[in-house]
Amino acid sequence: MSLFPLINQDFNRKLLLNTLENDRVANSYLFYGPEGGGHEGFALEFTAMLNCISDNERPCGKCPSCRKMKTLEHANLQLIFPMPIKKDRSSDNQPFKSLSQSEIAEIQNIIKKKSENPYEKISIPNAKHISINFIREIKRTIYLTSPEKGWKVVIVFDAHLMTEQASNAFLKILEEPPPKSVFILTSSNPSNLIPTIQSRCQPIYFPPLSLSSLESVLSSKGIPESSRHLIISLSSGDLNQAIDLSETDLTKLKESTLEILRSIAVWNIEKIYKLIETLSILYKQEPENFTQLMLSLSFWFRDAATLKIGCPNTELIHSDLKTEISKFVKAFPDFNGFKMNTSIENCIDFIKRNVYINLALLNMFFKIRDTINPGKNK
Ligand SMILES: [Zn+2]
Repeated sequence: MSLFPLINQDFNRKLLLNTLENDRVANSYLFYGPEGGGHEGFALEFTAMLNCISDNERPCGKCPSCRKMKTLEHANLQLIFPMPIKKDRSSDNQPFKSLSQSEIAEIQNIIKKKSENPYEKISIPNAKHISINFIREIKRTIYLTSPEKGWKVVIVFDAHLMTEQASNAFLKILEEPPPKSVFILTSSNPSNLIPTIQSRCQPIYFPPLSLSSLESVLSSKGIPESSRHLIISLSSGDLNQAIDLSETDLTKLKESTLEILRSIAVWNIEKIYKLIETLSILYKQEPENFTQLMLSLSFWFRDAATLKIGCPNTELIHSDLKTEISKFVKAFPDFNGFKMNTSIENCIDFIKRNVYINLALLNMFFKIRDTINPGKNK
């Protein structure tokens, strides 16, 4: 069974159980993969497997160890994650001492949420790094005897966010690990870990969840089929983001996508300038919604190209807009879906590189116009 609500990844589950049964537990692991694939949740699950006292299936979910692990309150478990770096250096060695009561309550609440939904990121406001103080804290406690039997496990979430100092201090611990201890680093960006840490850890890759797993989770939450494909595509397979999106109203996103397409088709330059101004404000105030709108636009062209080559409607991302997409394909039979998507990608890329956003958008609008009607505007 699974102690935490995790989705498949059967291969890795078996792999971890085998290492346990064959007594081949490594000192340090790197669980990595894209966000939402479950690498963080499986770090918790493996900790539960290691400490479960059942003779049968592990984790059993019933023994005292599993019960404590389920709420992440086991004395053998230590969680490290990015925290805001405090200016007050007086409590350097014991980082949690510098936190206020309300900050501690907030962190406890975030950890509780993590235990209920292992796909949810531990995200503390203004936390960008894992500082050396937290690694010193590990060093201070890992060599002490635990009141619990079993394996002491330190999980470092988002390990790639360790500062250079923290990484070097952590490497020293990895070089002299105490017996019956396991370090699990988790990361969606493992290439940012220092190579000496990478090479010390046994890597285990957690691929993104399959389309069918995501579909069935969304379906179990009552999300209609017409929205599922769009939600999954917008979240790039990240389950947590998909669940967040399933709780938001996507009507506005679809309407804005259609509005952009209509203005390009009609091409009134005054209206285009106004629309660019609105998009530029959206980017500055709600960058995530802006990115979603750009993705939605590129899915539209991908869908149009899908219909153009005669693929069935079931393949569409914007499946509930198929009437509009069909009309578009009929009205602009010569459009080039690939070039359109390149224009959108270039625009996003320019904006990321801080190119003047209005200019990047105007450029994108012109390019899309020219690919909708190749040759007409030259
Ligand atoms: Zn158990």
